[in-house]
Amino acid sequence: MKQEFDLIIVGAGVVGAALAAALCDSGLRIAILDAREPPRLDPKADWDLRVFALSPASRQLLDAVGAWKSIPAGRVCAYTAMQVWDAMGRGRIQFDCAEVGAEALGYIVENRQLQHALWQRLEHARTLTAIFPARPEAVHFDAQHVVLSLEGGSQLHARLLVAADGADSAVRKLAGIETTGASYRQQAVVAHLFTEKPHRNTARQRFLPSGPLALLPLADGRVSLVWSLDDARAEEVRALDDAQFCAAVAEGSGHVLGHVTGTTKRAAFPLQRLRVRAYVRPHLALIGDAAHALHPLAGQGMNLGLLDAATLSGVLHAAAAHERDIGDLAVLRRYERERRGANLAMIMALDGFKRVFSNDIRPVALLRNAGLSAVNRFTPLKSAFMRHAMGLNARLPAPTHMQGRSD
Ligand SMILES: Cc1cc2nc3c(=O)[nH]c(=O)nc-3n(C[C@H](O)[C@H](O)[C@H](O)COP(=O)(O)OP(=O)(O)OC[C@H]3O[C@@H](n4cnc5c(N)ncnc54)[C@H](O)[C@@H]3O)c2cc1C
Repeated sequence: MKQEFDLIIVGAGVVGAALAAALCDSGLRIAILDAREPPRLDPKADWDLRVFALSPASRQLLDAVGAWKSIPAGRVCAYTAMQVWDAMGRGRIQFDCAEVGAEALGYIVENRQLQHALWQRLEHARTLTAIFPARPEAVHFDAQHVVLSLEGGSQLHARLLVAADGADSAVRKLAGIETTGASYRQQAVVAHLFTEKPHRNTARQRFLPSGPLALLPLADGRVSLVWSLDDARAEEVRALDDAQFCAAVAEGSGHVLGHVTGTTKRAAFPLQRLRVRAYVRPHLALIGDAAHALHPLAGQGMNLGLLDAATLSGVLHAAAAHERDIGDLAVLRRYERERRGANLAMIMALDGFKRVFSNDIRPVALLRNAGLSAVNRFTPLKSAFMRHAMGLNARLPAPTHMQGRSD
């Protein structure tokens, strides 16, 4: 069976769904497909273990596509402060939203809630065809089109194929786009925890030589743990019984919230860094983790992916409005020019950060502790860091290019 579209998005995770939502009113005929069905919300289920620290810029983008308002207020935790400190010294830095005149530094939201909110926008979009479950099998480009063959035999034709299928992107591999990068040989162990002391809407991160341990505040008073550890140690920590696990986290976090009094089940995510040689080709664009994967220590992967989606949507809206071919390389290069350098700068910065902070050599520890404290005292530099992490320096597309309407 052959179907014709203007645009095919492979991957209906948050980034792919956000792009679809942003393009709903563009007049483009869009197909979106995913190997999994969109998540259903089960009111009896515990909170999703996968949570994101979203920047104010990401909130603005999700608001513009009409998704933010569908996330129940009781499932969003605005964090107003952040503390970062080194386990091997006295270096410490404290950020407060008041320092940049913002109402919050960011928002902790579950993946499932975000995806559900985006699907509420997409459900009734007339120009959108959702295909679930579906997996790409082959991709073929000719001068005018891209042809995507799916497992099971159907074929989709379009002018543009967007890979939003995550770090292990099948589309990227089928298209032969080369990557560089490597596994960090670390896993992030995650769980939601009850703690003796309240989190006071503060995100906390302690750098241990074995990797950073973050405690992110949740709206129900618990904290979400993201603990990056070498593969073997991560397996050991996951295998501990609940009491031992709680004790290990309390110890790892320097008892910053007192005792850890309870935990959910645990999950672990392998960590890698990844860059691609090209973000675009004629009739192809890569966004989100399909284009870049980075260490979660600064919680930026999703934020960068949403900026990719917003930028690409702006470029495609403009091309469609001027009746240009949305698969034309000159059109797609505008997206690449805007996002590639910004993403690369973040990947390199986090890689450097990880190396410096995972190092227990004494002089390095002394220097980084001095550095943390110096930045903490030097207000202009600290404000610059905060503005960057909050996405306040990013060039957001015009609101008209992000307003997806579910007509
Ligand atoms: C422990 C951890 C904590 C993190 N914390 C943060 C944070 O606080 N803030 C932040 O900004 N970022 C964070 N990140 C990064 C963030 O998770 C990713 O950057 C983000 O999920 C990327 O979204 P995506 O939609 O590009 O890819 P994904 O979320 O991986 O979605 C890809 C989609 O494609 C589908 N798919 C995959 N393969 C196929 C296929 N062959 N065929 C069809 N469909 C397919 C999948 O089913 C999925 O729906 C964290 C990452 C980790 C590991």
